[in-house]
Amino acid sequence: MSDYASTEPGGEPLSAWDYRSLFLRDETAFDKFYCPYCDIRLSSVLIYETGELSKSPHFSARFGAHRYGCDGTPDSVPSHVNEPTKRHYVKSVMHAPEVLITRPAPRASNTARNSRSEPPTPDEVRRRRREAGVAGLARPRTYLLQPLVEVRNAVLAEGYELFGRDHLHEGKRNEWFKKNLKQMPLTLDDDTNYDDAFRTPRYINWNNDRIYHGKGVVIGLDGCYKITSEIAAKVPNLAKIQFFVKINTSALLNQNSPRSHHALCQRLNDLCQPDKTIKWYAYGRPAIGGRGCDVIVDSLDYIYIK
Ligand SMILES: [Zn+2]
Repeated sequence: MSDYASTEPGGEPLSAWDYRSLFLRDETAFDKFYCPYCDIRLSSVLIYETGELSKSPHFSARFGAHRYGCDGTPDSVPSHVNEPTKRHYVKSVMHAPEVLITRPAPRASNTARNSRSEPPTPDEVRRRRREAGVAGLARPRTYLLQPLVEVRNAVLAEGYELFGRDHLHEGKRNEWFKKNLKQMPLTLDDDTNYDDAFRTPRYINWNNDRIYHGKGVVIGLDGCYKITSEIAAKVPNLAKIQFFVKINTSALLNQNSPRSHHALCQRLNDLCQPDKTIKWYAYGRPAIGGRGCDVIVDSLDYIYIK
């Protein structure tokens, strides 16, 4: 199994999480995938699932083996970039996304360097894998919040399976969550991990962007939505104050926005009911506002609701 593929021989490599992000964004799906290094056909696994994933999407060499020593991965990069950590400890999250990036510009459709079907030479395969390693492609990336939430939820699900859901084992279970999530690197606006990255409003990081999560209701205002939090924000030297996720749709949404952004806004609109509690995830940096503490999302990619 491997993490990267292109949609035509010699084309631009994207990660399985990138293809999943495209699919979640506007249902973009591709029929054929190729190893970006040795050009063999690959098949996609779990990329086009509609529900929340509990295992990582990836590619498999189902049609035939990789060529010339290729195993579908970039050549190893310097150890500080791609440390062989114990992240594989969690069996269901083999290759979690490790970097949250900003949404790339739309791709030109035909980027093939080699449109004829000649296979690359062994030297060419080695060169491509080496270049990909230097470019840091060994670290799977995503520009949507949802895959990061999926990975964390997969780890939590595994912990609940191991320790059960009752209070008796809560301590051990939480210890296990922490230990495993800490071993999974994640680059946001700084280098952190899946444990530190996800926070409730009780533990705010005022210096770096983090992924906040909670439960609340959606309130529709003029040109924006606010989502409340059942948990109050804890602010140094202040009493607890209300926490809100603020989504300025009038600034973030326009005619050219992807279909998923329009669908998200429609959903927020439908959810504006005082008795409808939702689970939300929002990426950003909270600040004290007029009526409480707000995390204002910069992009509709950085909000995920369930
Ligand atoms: Zn290959």
